[in-house]
Amino acid sequence: MADSKLYDILGVSRSAQDNEIKKAYYKLAKEYHPDKNPEAGEKFKEISFAYEVLSNADKRETYDRYGLQGLKEGAGSSGGFPDIFGDLFGGIFGGGGSPFGGGFGGMGGPRRGRRKGEDTYHPLKVTLEDLYNGKTSKLQLSKTTICTKCSGVGGKQGAMHRCKTCNGRGVKVTLRQLGPGMVQQMQSICPDCRGEGETISEKDKCKECKGKKVTQQTKVLEVHVDKGMKDNQKIPFRGEGDQLPDIEPGDVIIVLQTQDHEVFTREGEDLLCSYTLSLTEALCGFQFTLKQLDGRDLLIKNPPGQVIHPGSVKVVKGEGMSVYRNPFEKGDLIVKFDITFPPKNFADPEQLKKLESLLPSRPEREIPTGEDVEEVDLVEFDESRGGRRRNRDAYNEDDDDEEGGQGPRVQCAHQ
Ligand SMILES: [Zn+2]
Ligand SMILES: [Zn+2]
Repeated sequence: MADSKLYDILGVSRSAQDNEIKKAYYKLAKEYHPDKNPEAGEKFKEISFAYEVLSNADKRETYDRYGLQGLKEGAGSSGGFPDIFGDLFGGIFGGGGSPFGGGFGGMGGPRRGRRKGEDTYHPLKVTLEDLYNGKTSKLQLSKTTICTKCSGVGGKQGAMHRCKTCNGRGVKVTLRQLGPGMVQQMQSICPDCRGEGETISEKDKCKECKGKKVTQQTKVLEVHVDKGMKDNQKIPFRGEGDQLPDIEPGDVIIVLQTQDHEVFTREGEDLLCSYTLSLTEALCGFQFTLKQLDGRDLLIKNPPGQVIHPGSVKVVKGEGMSVYRNPFEKGDLIVKFDITFPPKNFADPEQLKKLESLLPSRPEREIPTGEDVEEVDLVEFDESRGGRRRNRDAYNEDDDDEEGGQGPRVQCAHQ
């Protein structure tokens, strides 16, 4: 069955006269000319193609009888089919669904894209300081690029020959006799052309890439680590992947990897740390400084009398991490306090009496009397003796007593 697509493109009927077709063509060509309407390149090609066929009596007759397929076949045998027709058949009229489905204006559509290469991932180690302050890192990468000397041809123009071993198919078929009347057919990538179907003689090979079409280059990427970016955040560089012939380069994707920080850990927009106070500081007030990620020393004070309990948590508002894409906002700094008790025998009984007079009074405990009451010894627990099931952690807490632990210690809160 003959079709009428080419008539439809020009907006004329199948019985239109030559001058009618010409008029319709000029009108549309003016409207869709690429100079005026660069978006409509494909559309302009279709219009030109339709006119080329319908303005030629022979072609129009073939088309009327056999449709587009007839034109294509006719051209194949005569060899005089212009290139654009091939493009149009392949790109627009070929394929599955009707390219005209989207209405007149929807014709053409996007060009078939080249196959896209794989994305490559590169880790970039950053410190918490980098993520707090922002930073530009230069990253040197080795990259496969199309040879600039031969433009990816591999040698002089026209120096490529069809591979004789595989006849251009890129695969080699070998037959293996397994037994009488039994033959196994094996396919392998052609060793002579490495599956490309083309070879180039040694003397014609491009000196730069030695016929490989690509060369290895070193490329330096400038990676902008923005304030507040997170661990594992990906920073893409579109099209910076390896260049290979006939493949659209993939992306290079930088993946941030945060190194552990000595003092702080990050939780979302907040910074966490723990700080060890002496018992005296916990009871009688303290001040200390913490080095903020931008180099400032944060002076943190607690007045006497505001007792800090072991494990208690305090917050410094607005001294957390920078917030991504919101430079004026910051999370909070969260400090968890540990308390170191004084060492054994730090004071004699007389001094302790003085201390006791300042501390809250002892709780009242009821001590029973009589024969059933037996006084026992309390001695140090021996860590090294085995065989007893116990929760070691429960007994380990006071290990630091012997060392004293007078000075405050800053610790990373491992979580
Ligand atoms: Zn080359
Ligand atoms: Zn081959």
